[in-house]
Amino acid sequence: MPEGRVIKVSGPLVVADRMEGARMHDIVRVGQERLIGEIVELKEDQASIQVYEETSGMGPGEPVYPTGRPLSVELGPGLITSIYDGIQRPLDILAEKAGAYIARGVDIPAIDRERKWYFKPILSSGNEVAFGDILGSVQESPAVVHRVMVPYGIEGTIEKIYEGNFRVTDAIAKVKKDKEIYEVRMLQEWPVRRRRPVKEKLPPCAPLVTGQRVIDTFFTLAKGGTACIPGPFGSGKTVVLHQFAKWSDADIIVYVGCGERGNEMTDVLLEFPQLTDPRTGQALINRTVMIANTSNMPVAAREASIYTGITIAEYYRDMGYRVAVMADSTSRWAEALREMSGRLEEMPGEEGYPAYLAARVAEFYERAGRAVCASGNGRREGSISAIGAVSPPGGDLSDPVVQATLRMVKVFWGLEDRLASMRHFPAINWLTSYSLYLRNIADFLQKEVGSDWMTLRDEAMKLLQEEASLEEIVKLVGIESLSARDRLILETSKSIREDFLHQHAFHEVDTYTSLTKQYRMMKLIIGLHQKCQKALEGGAPLHDVLALPVREEIARAKYIPEDELDSFDKIADRIDLEINSLFGQKGD
Ligand code: ADP
Repeated sequence: MPEGRVIKVSGPLVVADRMEGARMHDIVRVGQERLIGEIVELKEDQASIQVYEETSGMGPGEPVYPTGRPLSVELGPGLITSIYDGIQRPLDILAEKAGAYIARGVDIPAIDRERKWYFKPILSSGNEVAFGDILGSVQESPAVVHRVMVPYGIEGTIEKIYEGNFRVTDAIAKVKKDKEIYEVRMLQEWPVRRRRPVKEKLPPCAPLVTGQRVIDTFFTLAKGGTACIPGPFGSGKTVVLHQFAKWSDADIIVYVGCGERGNEMTDVLLEFPQLTDPRTGQALINRTVMIANTSNMPVAAREASIYTGITIAEYYRDMGYRVAVMADSTSRWAEALREMSGRLEEMPGEEGYPAYLAARVAEFYERAGRAVCASGNGRREGSISAIGAVSPPGGDLSDPVVQATLRMVKVFWGLEDRLASMRHFPAINWLTSYSLYLRNIADFLQKEVGSDWMTLRDEAMKLLQEEASLEEIVKLVGIESLSARDRLILETSKSIREDFLHQHAFHEVDTYTSLTKQYRMMKLIIGLHQKCQKALEGGAPLHDVLALPVREEIARAKYIPEDELDSFDKIADRIDLEINSLFGQKGD
């Protein structure tokens, strides 16, 4: 393809002419320094190029080299534990080569070309294979087995398959179709803006268990589901996301960080790799891929980062893994969209965001889900759960990015700085949050955990809502005006908030609660409530009902270790005993 020529430079946007034959979303190298750019608009022979690197010093007349290829990521062993920028350049190696500020036009492969991996085949010569079939595996990290799949577009009969130590670019198998022989390598590429195909999409039916009670019991995220979490500064968003990464029953974590303030991202980059995986005691990074944009990176790279992240997530889903993608914050990502749109002089939509904002947000979340993976030989399922943090200016949820997100996602965790300042953690508002997966996963929970799971959950939610309206009344006319029944509702709601919803992320036991324990805690609280209600109806004095010593034990139930759940039976017995004694007193 012929060289183009720069005619205009405006920040990250470069316009070039003589670009006949170029296609939308092709990658080009811009200027003498060969900066990486992507074609985002084509008009006759003129191309608008969003450049992923700093363009200062570039001027008209410089050459533009087409590559004829779309923006793609490299896939293969070596992704796990990596920290990349938005266009998948390894940050640690970049820093080594070029110092803290990223040099321009450097070409560093995303996946190490020298490192050797021990490939162990599971198929042999003569087997028929097609896209997605697992040929064999390598141990990618102590926590992750990388399943090497037949790349897209390849099918045929295995001529040869090798076992041993290989670089990602070495042939590990030869596949023959008709007369042609194709060499399969562990290294593959995928264009980031195209979703990887699956055989079938499935509706979510099981929860992504996080061990965080307010999430699992009240506002459950399904495996393969989507969620949105706003994070006003200091509201504990980082803690929630860390808890998620540490405890959720996902096999692989893809963390996409778009930070505005430089130190925000630096904190993440420093903190995240330090986290330990509580289940294995190893570093959490052993099952994590990080994509990070710090503020000294151009906006365009931020825009790409979300696609880079979700494509990597799809690749691990295709292996049959449960992947969790966290994008923090998608508001910063949308600002990058807005900036590019402005420079392209597109017609602005709401608050200057491009009219296609909602479509782009949708493109990201639509790539989440539970699916039967593409494969010709055997059925396997994988899932991508996507959690997008949003940070609207002033915490305003009517912001276009939040609204576009809420139209797509099915779970909303209303994190609030008001609750955080009252030290109620996780500061997720139980009245504004919601999950639309509850009905999907009710069967699973009722079968696996407790047949009355949903009843308990709904009862607890009803009490919390009643509490909110009773509090209004109390504000107006004082607590004395309430009936004994209402006073009991206030007491039980307080117990739900303090003994159940409140969860200390840094307490060794409280940091994680299994579904069974969550269920048993809930059963105690609701069970006590119902029995107290009966006692009141039977004439027991309110004062005595509220003074039952077992309340103290329920408050401490969150600290019961997972291997001592029998203690819950004892507390349940205590409830019965104390309730009976109420009637005993009455009879005296
Ligand atoms: P943000 O990222 O929203 O600015 P952080 O996640 O850093 O806020 O949380 C701020 C502080 O709030 C934390 O340092 C911690 O002390 C407290 N905190 C947040 N969540 C919890 C939690 N679940 N348990 C205990 N403390 C918490």
